[in-house]
Amino acid sequence: MFKKGSALYSILTGACPKCHSESMYENKNPYVLRDTLKINDRCSHCKTKYRLEPSFFYGSMYVSYGVGIAFAFAAFVISYLFLDTSLKISFIAIVLTLIVFGPIIMRLSRNIWINIFMKYDKTLAEKET
Ligand SMILES: [Zn+2]
Repeated sequence: MFKKGSALYSILTGACPKCHSESMYENKNPYVLRDTLKINDRCSHCKTKYRLEPSFFYGSMYVSYGVGIAFAFAAFVISYLFLDTSLKISFIAIVLTLIVFGPIIMRLSRNIWINIFMKYDKTLAEKET
């Protein structure tokens, strides 16, 4: 399921959505905050241009809303239902989760967003550069 060729692979790793051969990001580590949102212009393997249009990635904000809610909900379930904390503590847990996972949420959202518009292409992936 997480193998190259599935959209999930690109979403979870930030790999080029067309060839899955390399990361879209300049820095693979999302926690180097000044690099969190730095995306290369093109894939050096298949030459895919990542920004389909100027400010293409603004649309990923809609996705990040959903992804953020998913993380917040998970934090709530874990703290309130499993750890049996008070509502106040659960709320703090949600806020902390959103801060701590912020860079990951932002990247996941971009990866999901671009994978809506681009699909894996086997011939590009196997092409020698
Ligand atoms: Zn590529």
